Amino acid sequence: MATNYETFEYDVLVIGAGGAGLRAAIEASAAGVKVGLVCKSLLGKAHTVMAEGGMAAALANVDDRDNWRVHFSDTMRGGQYVNNWRMAELHAKEAPARVRELEAWGAVFDRTPDGKILQRNFGGHRYPRLAHVGDRTGLELIRTLQDHGIHQGIAVHMEHTMVTLLKDGERVAGAFGYDRERGRFKIFKAKAIVLATGGIGRAYKITSNSWEYTGDGQSLAYHAGAELVDMEFVQFHPTGMIWPPSVMGILVTEAVRGEGGILKNKDGKRFMFDDIPDLYKNQTADNPEEGWRYCQGDKNARRPPELLTRDHVARCIMREVKAGRGSPHGGVFLDIAWIKEKIPNSAEHIKRKLPSMYHQFLQLADLDITKEPMEIGPTTHYVMGGIRVDGDTQMSTVPGLFAAGEVAAGLHGANRLGGNSLSDLVVFGKRAGEFAAKFAKAHSAGHFYESQIEAIARQTLEPFERGAKAGGSAEGPYQVQQDLQEMMQSLVGIVRREEEMGRALDELNKLRKRAGQVAVFGHREYNPGWNTALDLKNLLTVAEAITRSAIERKESRGAHFRDDFPNKDAASGRVNIVVRKGADGTMQARREPIPEMPAELKQIIEEMK
Ligand SMILES: Cc1cc2nc3c(=O)[nH]c(=O)nc-3n(C[C@H](O)[C@H](O)[C@H](O)COP(=O)(O)OP(=O)(O)OC[C@H]3O[C@@H](n4cnc5c(N)ncnc54)[C@H](O)[C@@H]3O)c2cc1C
Repeated sequence: MATNYETFEYDVLVIGAGGAGLRAAIEASAAGVKVGLVCKSLLGKAHTVMAEGGMAAALANVDDRDNWRVHFSDTMRGGQYVNNWRMAELHAKEAPARVRELEAWGAVFDRTPDGKILQRNFGGHRYPRLAHVGDRTGLELIRTLQDHGIHQGIAVHMEHTMVTLLKDGERVAGAFGYDRERGRFKIFKAKAIVLATGGIGRAYKITSNSWEYTGDGQSLAYHAGAELVDMEFVQFHPTGMIWPPSVMGILVTEAVRGEGGILKNKDGKRFMFDDIPDLYKNQTADNPEEGWRYCQGDKNARRPPELLTRDHVARCIMREVKAGRGSPHGGVFLDIAWIKEKIPNSAEHIKRKLPSMYHQFLQLADLDITKEPMEIGPTTHYVMGGIRVDGDTQMSTVPGLFAAGEVAAGLHGANRLGGNSLSDLVVFGKRAGEFAAKFAKAHSAGHFYESQIEAIARQTLEPFERGAKAGGSAEGPYQVQQDLQEMMQSLVGIVRREEEMGRALDELNKLRKRAGQVAVFGHREYNPGWNTALDLKNLLTVAEAITRSAIERKESRGAHFRDDFPNKDAASGRVNIVVRKGADGTMQARREPIPEMPAELKQIIEEMK
């Protein structure tokens, strides 16, 4: 078969046009190299647009006690100290400059009365730190980066899905994919590639994540020989919608709690005061009055327990539900309407501070949040683990292959603090673009062979061949996808056990066999069945990486909770779990010591305890 395809050549190819990809493309292009940008959806529609609450940066506009050292120590504490400390340091130091840069590029942030960028409270951040635009911060971030990038001559390929990375020996040399509109194959030759493809939420049944989150980047990198790290750390955000069923999983932003929203069980009890971890005791309010004062900006008050880290809040909610104290549809209540006891015109205040939440509940659940509490429960939200990268350059363990944003690992450790993702995107997106451009300038283009392309093209079209042979008797991809999501939700979800995860590995083997047999029908133009059939490989790869890593981490830490090892283990707290493809093609997981932290960073952590 002679495969038809179109070829493009770039110095740097950026895969993904969310915050991280756009920022990387801008930086690489500014360095004077030829940049291509590909994305699965339309430009401007990447998952980042969904981000609501804000981006964390120690600007100290609202509380002048804030600085990079506090932000660094909050991030490390939230990540339970298995973070890549170098990334946490760079992030805390560089985020303020990246936020101001966005402002200079036209981002219209909310303002303090004296005209500075306004910052709001969020879980795990000691001081109000989230620069925001109402509850639509991601939209503004994307709009600003897009406006800025569009003038830089970056070549954009929208609605293109990359299915395989091409290599020349050890190094990366390009990517193979297809355009979703026509189904035509495209080859992108590149001296360096930046993966910025986001997360994995679609490996679970209940998720806040968009359809794009099928773990493509993690899987592309893994199959190209890169290492993944700490994939067991999947964040279940405590507040997703749970009713009606059609909206299950959609996020209810943490900003609701930042603005004073409280969590109550079916008996009306504010249960979060019952369980405040030792690590956070001296930073947490011990009565509702103090918590409210904190939300109102009182610098002498400590934050309410609803603003403890996400992993903890999610587990407290599950405990209430399991104990029979949950809401009618299996969650608990989140109440912002109660603030009418505290401020006049509370309805107007809520609508102004949380406009998207007000409309989301009114339109999707027929509920007015200014009058009634919301019913919420945990939803799969974010993956802290991902492609292992060098903290300074963002290069993976494959030469020429870089990663930034949610697809990369390290910054957040065992648990991400809200708001630390958007700042992650711009800090490390910039770095990835800069170092990818440097790599491209220092290396000539790699080579790959026609036979490589032929083989990949044949595999990509196999689901159609099976459809043609088997007709209607063959299984389609959707049932396999659904069974995978249900299985991961129940066997490798919020609470994990060795025996269940062992079963999950057996189930994954069966699902892999079924995925290898799925058939699709029709032609290649806008064929969602074909797209889903190709997604299955990625979903199965990340599901296996999560499961193997979760089995290997025999303790509970951050977002990873083991019923059979419910406590933290000091020895496990000194290692990361690394996954890579073995020589025999099977997935191997190993424990690797975390490099020693420099004395000055250790001292910061000690001082801030
Ligand atoms: C509802 C919601 C609210 C959130 N709110 C906040 C918040 O307030 N603050 C915060 O810090 N974080 C928040 N987050 C998290 C944050 O939004 C994400 O972690 C972040 O936007 C990820 O950005 P990214 O650039 O890594 O990837 P994305 O924005 O997801 O972009 C991924 C890109 O990769 C492309 N892509 C994927 N696979 C392929 C492929 N195979 N081929 C080609 N292209 C591909 C996609 O089309 C897309 O363009 C929120 C998340 C959700 C779900």
